[in-house]
Amino acid sequence: SKCAGDGIFSKGKLDPFGDIKLSPSSGVLNYGQGLFEGLKAYRKEDGSILLFRPDENAKRMIMGAERLCMPSPTVDQFVEAVKLTVLANKRWVPPAGKGSLYIRPLLMGSGPVLGLAPAPEYTFLIYVSPVGNYFKEGLAPINLVVATEYHRATPGGTGCVKTIGNYASVLKAQAEAKAKGYSDVLYLDSVNKKYLEEVSSCNIFVVKGNTILTPAIKGTILPGITRKSIIDVARLQGFQVEERLVSVEELLDADEVFCTGTAVVVSPVGSITYLGKRVEYKNNGIGKVSQQLYSALTRLQMGLADDNLGWTLSLD
Ligand code: PMP
Repeated sequence: SKCAGDGIFSKGKLDPFGDIKLSPSSGVLNYGQGLFEGLKAYRKEDGSILLFRPDENAKRMIMGAERLCMPSPTVDQFVEAVKLTVLANKRWVPPAGKGSLYIRPLLMGSGPVLGLAPAPEYTFLIYVSPVGNYFKEGLAPINLVVATEYHRATPGGTGCVKTIGNYASVLKAQAEAKAKGYSDVLYLDSVNKKYLEEVSSCNIFVVKGNTILTPAIKGTILPGITRKSIIDVARLQGFQVEERLVSVEELLDADEVFCTGTAVVVSPVGSITYLGKRVEYKNNGIGKVSQQLYSALTRLQMGLADDNLGWTLSLD
């Protein structure tokens, strides 16, 4: 097997959605050698289809493959495969304003391996599913609980790549939080236990006046593509954005808090519970900044605003 060798993938084929065959001793099943991505295709009013920054997903998968000692498709192979899959499933892309087509690329060690080692063969596949708007009413606030007994990632671990194991490790914390009525869990750093990291499937932003804070990418949080895009959009709109260590105190003292991700887009945070104490944000968390950034980003993604940044790829 080869670590992080680019371009070893042969041209793919389209298959109807269905089960895949996998060796019981495959690397992915035994040692978690698997990565995934998530992106969306939106339909415009004129019927054409837009992808949002698919090259960024490709680059993140390549970075993850390097960390997991796997070969990866090149950026071009990845984007081509996404295009081909979406075009073949065109009829499943919802009408403009009625949701999107969620695209899920997977890269895994599919070959057999008994002793701990990278797998001898790899499979890259993509499946798609139509999804409604995450929140029917546009912005809907989420209620988070800060984890004090669980951590999502440790320095030197795999927190910064989109590997399947990261998600297995948060299931229990998430289930406990949901059972208590919270929407999701906010994780702190595992060393000082006081700096914000991220939520199970989205990044976090803290607003104070004209300043927007977000945890810096330091190896333990996922470099979200929505996060990166929101930072640029916010700066273009005149906000001061700081990527740095952000403490729980700054979070609890914020004017507004919101999360970003492909699924949640921009979601305001209505409340945060930390060590049993609940802080509620003004107007149930639906603040001016969250609304403004949500609108700017979704207008770009849906092709309602001019794409001066070259972030969208039109398929028609
Ligand atoms: N953090 C985690 C742990 C995630 O799973 C996701 C979703 N991919 C994000 C952040 C947000 O990343 P993106 O904006 O690229 O969807």
